[in-house]
Amino acid sequence: MQYVIQQSDTLTQIALRFNVPIGKLLKANPQIKDPGKIYTGQIIEIPPKGQSAPNVSGTRQYIVKAGDSFGRIAERFNISYNKLLNTNPQVKNPDLLFPGQVIYIPVGPGSIRPPEYTEYVVQAEDTFAGIARKFSVPLQALIDANLDIRNINFIQPGQIIQIPKNYEEIVQTDRPYGYNTMVADIDALLRQFPFIEKKVIGKSVMGRDIIALRLGEGAKTIQYNAAHHANEWITTPVVMKFIEEYARSYQTGKPLGGFDIRKLFNDITLWIVPMVNPDGVDIVVNGVTPQHPYYKELLRINRGNTNFNNWRANIRGVDINRNYPIDWEKAREVGPKSPSPGYYAGPAPASEPETQAIIKFSGENKFDRALAFHTQGKVIFWGYKDIAEKESRYLVNRFSEASGYRPIPYEEGAYYGGFKEWYMDKFRRPAFAPELGEGTNPLPISQFPEIWNDVIGLMLLGIAL
Ligand SMILES: [Zn+2]
Repeated sequence: MQYVIQQSDTLTQIALRFNVPIGKLLKANPQIKDPGKIYTGQIIEIPPKGQSAPNVSGTRQYIVKAGDSFGRIAERFNISYNKLLNTNPQVKNPDLLFPGQVIYIPVGPGSIRPPEYTEYVVQAEDTFAGIARKFSVPLQALIDANLDIRNINFIQPGQIIQIPKNYEEIVQTDRPYGYNTMVADIDALLRQFPFIEKKVIGKSVMGRDIIALRLGEGAKTIQYNAAHHANEWITTPVVMKFIEEYARSYQTGKPLGGFDIRKLFNDITLWIVPMVNPDGVDIVVNGVTPQHPYYKELLRINRGNTNFNNWRANIRGVDINRNYPIDWEKAREVGPKSPSPGYYAGPAPASEPETQAIIKFSGENKFDRALAFHTQGKVIFWGYKDIAEKESRYLVNRFSEASGYRPIPYEEGAYYGGFKEWYMDKFRRPAFAPELGEGTNPLPISQFPEIWNDVIGLMLLGIAL
């Protein structure tokens, strides 16, 4: 059987994945002179491996993510470890799972309501991922719709696969994402998913709505927020896409990442504030023209620079995440003394309407937990002094396993006036600040797929645990 080399594949990985000794693999491919030199798109021959085929009937495929382990996957899908192992006898060493590897998850009868499909005939050169892109269907949704396909790497021209129907993506994640895009997407989400509640929790300095969306109606309450910092706007499409997938899963009854979202809706009230700092995001995404009402002040604060990529603050040059009433005097002391693209704590604690909106909203709801999404660094800031220490530590370790991101405990002197510390101090409950992705802010939108793949598990666990 033939296999097309994927990006970042190595021969050792392929040998392990298909459970073929590397020597046998090389023997079947005499054209490979140097095992270290294979290239993406190259076709190689996988020798037949005999027995140990996965027991694919009554299963769904699952793509292993960074940080996954068999134990973790078993827990996530609520099946026993041994059942998962028995379903995957092709995996010789359960400690060696690779991101991108396909394994099989047993599916209980009748637990998934069948959605509608259209049929598609596979063409030469088609790949599963390419078909998913062609029909704007998430890869996992396409896999879920084709449970009978034994391995997504082996589709053949002429083969018929099922494309989930009426799957219209609302939140686009391949272009810059500003305030107006978010507002339009929220309108579309409310039309498609009328069970989402929208609430305006405050106004920005320039009068833009600070919007919160509610999903679910359980007793436990959780707050997610994004884009405290202007040049971290990619966190907004991340949580917006999450809202869409979470709502669609509730609507269709199909699980998301193995979680029964209808059950989560019943147990948990999730409130998401997708853009805490709309005025700041707007100037990073759309730039500043002389028509901007704050044009002169902005250029002065930015020292004449018309590029606002370094801008974290709100439109008055106050860093909202240094403006919370927690160690604020210290934030003032260590930061700039006047409006600045970042780190200025403001003229007084909670001086900014954006900060006030989150404070008021948090006080009204007293969330059991809060996650504030930032970029970048692939780390998760957690803890404040000894508040909710045990629960916080447990949760951050689960988040870390799911995402591959590294937990960083609070350290005195590192930063002051931030939402996470304020939240923990005020409500004595866990709060976290995951720093998504890696690179220089603003991260390019091209990093969205990688970020999404890394954090979807974290975002689900942040609700479900
Ligand atoms: Zn940030």
